[in-house]
This record gives sequence, structure tokens and C-alpha cells, in this order.
Amino acid sequence: MELTFCGAAGVVTGSCHHLQVGDRQLLLDCGLFQGHREEEARNIQPFPFDARAIDAVVLSHAHLDHCGRLPVLVRRGFNGPIHTHRATIDLVRVLLKDAAYLEQADVERENRKRAARGEHLLKPLFDIDDVEAVMGLMCPLEFDVAEEILPGVTVRLLPAGHILGAASIVLDLQERGRRWRLVFSGDVGPRTTTLLREPVPPDHADVVLLESTYGDRNHRSREDTLREIGQVLEAAWEAGGNLLVPAFAIGRTQELLALFASHRKSWNLDRWHIFLDSPMAIQATAIYLRHSELFNDAAQAFLDRHDLHDLLPNLHETPDTAQSMQINNIRRGAIILAGAGMCTGGRILHHLRHNLWRKETQVMIIGYQSEGTLGRRLVDGVEMVRLFGEDIRVRASVHTIGGLSAHAGQDELAAWYGAIGGRPPVHLVHGEQRGRDGLAQRLRADYGVQASTPAYGERIQL
Ligand code: ZN
Repeated sequence: MELTFCGAAGVVTGSCHHLQVGDRQLLLDCGLFQGHREEEARNIQPFPFDARAIDAVVLSHAHLDHCGRLPVLVRRGFNGPIHTHRATIDLVRVLLKDAAYLEQADVERENRKRAARGEHLLKPLFDIDDVEAVMGLMCPLEFDVAEEILPGVTVRLLPAGHILGAASIVLDLQERGRRWRLVFSGDVGPRTTTLLREPVPPDHADVVLLESTYGDRNHRSREDTLREIGQVLEAAWEAGGNLLVPAFAIGRTQELLALFASHRKSWNLDRWHIFLDSPMAIQATAIYLRHSELFNDAAQAFLDRHDLHDLLPNLHETPDTAQSMQINNIRRGAIILAGAGMCTGGRILHHLRHNLWRKETQVMIIGYQSEGTLGRRLVDGVEMVRLFGEDIRVRASVHTIGGLSAHAGQDELAAWYGAIGGRPPVHLVHGEQRGRDGLAQRLRADYGVQASTPAYGERIQL
């Protein structure tokens, strides 16, 4: 048995691991590289394996850095089953269609310039037909139900608590009479979230691939985080302007709406108008509510008694562009949730353009901001930004809420590993060098295990 790290090795994107079991080939995730230009350049390079020879894919969850190259895989000849949680299938459909649309728009814009300069034209990395082909290969799984997906390969998903449907993948493998259990953590969520159940570690494994996004630090406590959000809302009302929240469409948006619903009274939210101004987030929220049986007990009990619009009567969903543009006329009292989460595009840019220069505006950052993004520059206190060709002075106050992450902190990752019997060898993936080194040290100190930090393309024999 042989395992090759084909992505998310020393970085947090492009999750993809290739497994050879006898004459079978299997992929765990097939994600997009995002962020720095050198990383993104990997998306158009050939895969380090033959896409046509892959027998099956097992997908951990519906984020682009885990599923975003599935359409490329299909375009290059993959035609096998993609096994994943049934809720993930619903979310992936929305996510990949949106990605195909954005890719098409980007390429068309670039090609207009290229045509004018007489240069050769680009082709999109994938299109909507490739996405349809991917969706046709999806095979739904339930949590904690083992299924033999290939001869000698049995898969079981455990709840990972990261976003709806997100799973850790347990693979029981057989080769020439020998049995092995490989566990891939996927992205592990924090212990407490408003909506989801806490992550379930496997009881036993022979080898583990563990994510390490926040391997070097812990998050602020839940109580401090809730107090902070309350304070930002109060400050925003006092300032007399609007509150902008750049929102990740899948995961953070639904967690924040659930927090709003459960703290509606104490945060005095009835005096605001709350706009969910993102077509993808609106669809993802509907999918979350359709799968509410996956929520934790408290969230289920709460939602069983109420519908989202009873819980937040002043929530306005604005899928149409015309409705979105009308929000620009509001000077005060609007909470605007819009994408993209790192302000790299989308409707949030229009709201920033109309509000950033007003000193009464507040911006609440609720997720990780990568280096080089507008969101990161706002967090870092930049004075001037350029939006749609206009220079805009930043007079708004920018608040960063640290404790709403969808990822486990160091203590939680160490505890997840610690729950597995037998102290199996562990390979740290999905983390920048700092995160991986921090977690490797911690695991060595707590459990005496030597954690490896594999490089891109590295291959190990099991
Ligand atoms: Zn994720």
C-alpha cells in the first residue's frame, strides 16, 4: 500500500491524497489550490497520477479547497464513483456551479483583453458541463455506516464538526491478506459550535492524516467571543451606521445566523434590519435547514420549535442584484452579510464602496483572512483602498472576532488524536509550516509520537 501527498502538504489548500491498494487507486479529496499565484498555478498543471486510472474518490466536505478540482479530474478522464456524505452532495452542487460561473466570467474578461492585444485565448479550467458530470458520479453515504466501495476497501464517515456534512474518513483496507486502517481527519471543527455536533475521533487506526490549520494556537473562548460580538453590535448601533460582515457562504454564515437567532433578545437585534445578501449563502442556508437532523441536540430542539423567519423576523434574503443594490440606499441600522468572506470579490465589495468612507460604519471580520486579500488589509488597518477604480479612504471601524473559526485549535486537535488507541503514526497535512510544526511539537510532548510533515509529492509505503 502506498500513499502520495498530492496537495495541502505545507499549505492549507489543494487537499488531495492518492492511495494505491493492490491494483486499485483511490483519491481522498480533490481540492483547488487557492491564494498565492504559485499555488494557484498548480491547478492547471497535470495531476501527479493518471485521472483515468483512479477507481474512486472519497470526499471529506464541501469546501473548494477539498472538492474544487473534481470537475478538472472528470474533464481529464475520471469516471468512477465519488463517495461522500449526502449533505455534502447538496452543498457541492451549489458551490461548484458558482465556481464554474466565476471561472467562465474571469476567463471571458481576460480573453477580451487578450483578443485586443492579439494574444492566444485562454480556456476555462472547467465549465458547467464538467460540474454536471461530477454530480452524476456522486454516491451518498451516511455517518457511521460502513460501506465496501471497492474490493478490499471499506469506508466509514465520522462527523468532523467543521461544516454541514463534513466528515473524517475511516478506510479499512485489505491487501494480500493484510488489513490496515487509515484515517483521514478532513477539516476538524471546534468542540462547540452553535449548530453542529462535536467531532468524533476514530477509536483505532494504523495510520492517521491529521489537519493542522491552527496547530500552533488556540482560539479565544466561546464566552469571550459571544461577549465580543455583543459589544460590536452595541458599538455599531451607537455609531449610527451600518454593520458589514464579509461572510463565508457555507458554514460561517449559518453559524452567525444561528447565534443571532439565539441571542436576538440579549443583543437587541430587533432594532436592526439583517440582510443575507449572497445567493450562494441563501441556498446554503436552505440546505442546512433541510438537513437539520445533523444539528446538535440544542440546535435541533431550538429549530424544531421555530422556523428561521420566526426566529429572525427582520432577516431579509436578497438573491437578486436589484434588491442588493437597494441596500446601498440605507444609511443606518442595516447588518449586511455578503460574500466573499475575505473581500476578494462578490457583493461585499459594493457595500464596502458605499460604506467604508463613513466613520459611523463598522466592519465585523468573522473568519480567517489570507495574506494579500482586501480583508487582511482591512484587519491590518490600511488607510486607503481601491474599489472599482476609485480610491476610498477607510474611516470605518474594523473589528476582528477571533473565536468563530470552523477549525479546531491546538488543544482540540491534540485531544482528537489522543482519543485514538495505539498511538498510530501521524502525518500532518492542511497547515502552513508554523501550524504543522506547532502541532508536531505538541503531539511529541503529549503522546511521544513522532509526527511527520510530508512535502508535496512525497510518497510513503504503509
Ligand atoms: Zn474546510
